[in-house]
Amino acid sequence: MKCPICEGPATLIEPEKPDQKAVHCDRCGEYRVSAEAADTLPKLTPHRRLQALRYAETLAPPGRRPFVAGLG
Ligand SMILES: [Zn+2]
Repeated sequence: MKCPICEGPATLIEPEKPDQKAVHCDRCGEYRVSAEAADTLPKLTPHRRLQALRYAETLAPPGRRPFVAGLG
């Protein structure tokens, strides 16, 4: 699949919850996206997408995958 953040090659991994996608990307690492964010991310600029991931990273507890939730 295509990484929803950087559009590079990425792999879908087993999500922790059915309404989320979990992504492994060589560039972005491992992270989760909500169904809503999966719809919204393609409409954002690459810069905004990266900001969303960076923000999720700052919120993620240690050892947990960052979660990109809904994006206003
Ligand atoms: Zn990526």
